[in-house]
Amino acid sequence: MRNVIICAVCSSTEHARVFSEGETDFLICQNCGLMFRERFPAMTELTAIYATHYQAGNIVSGRTEQESGEYALEAYCRFLQRRLLPAASISRVLDYGAGTGRLVELFRAAGIQADGIEVAPDARRYCLKNRGFDLFASSNLLPENAYEVVTMIEIIEHLPNLMSDLAAVRKTLRQGGVLFVTTPNRLGLRARMQKGYWREARKKFHLFLFDRASIEQMLLRAGFARVDWVRFSPLQNSGFPFWLYGRACQCLGVSGTLAVIARR
Ligand SMILES: [Zn+2]
Repeated sequence: MRNVIICAVCSSTEHARVFSEGETDFLICQNCGLMFRERFPAMTELTAIYATHYQAGNIVSGRTEQESGEYALEAYCRFLQRRLLPAASISRVLDYGAGTGRLVELFRAAGIQADGIEVAPDARRYCLKNRGFDLFASSNLLPENAYEVVTMIEIIEHLPNLMSDLAAVRKTLRQGGVLFVTTPNRLGLRARMQKGYWREARKKFHLFLFDRASIEQMLLRAGFARVDWVRFSPLQNSGFPFWLYGRACQCLGVSGTLAVIARR
């Protein structure tokens, strides 16, 4: 019997193959536009992939990802303080998928109450040993109605249990709280040119890839009240040419990264 593949966001069984070359196992939901791998790597495979990717050397130098490296996290921290935190009466922030806890550390250094959640034991151990605080190990442990802001920086594309994670995020946010999400843009300039060979598609732990429409659909279905676009890229602080290039790409909808704010 043929296995029926169901979209994780809208439960539709209608889908089409995305790439004919390179990463040919991506499907796209014909109903909501979610792009996902036909078969997720098993937990043991994923653990092995992460172990190679997040070796201690990479963790320390912040070379794991462009968008979640040291420079980018500092830029996000400043941006979030400017854009989201002044509006919150009591600023409590949770970084979902905190890695080794660097963003949490930056928030704390800025005087903001911040926590993190990270499922990878190695990253949690690194955080405790080198930064002196612990991270939540599971979404079951998160307090309800506790945070004004939850950040998910380059993490949703990794989550095998996408909708239940978003439900956990919604539950831990206070009423009126906001979720800040960044993720690679499957309709970005580089993605359009490189297709199945696009760097973000080739990462085997990227289980989902989004565009503006599909991420909005997903967040609304997850129960968020409103989704707003954020025109911000960490690279735009690198000088005027980068800023101009970044702005132009964002205006044309072809920037490499999508950033959105969803309100509970
Ligand atoms: Zn769908």
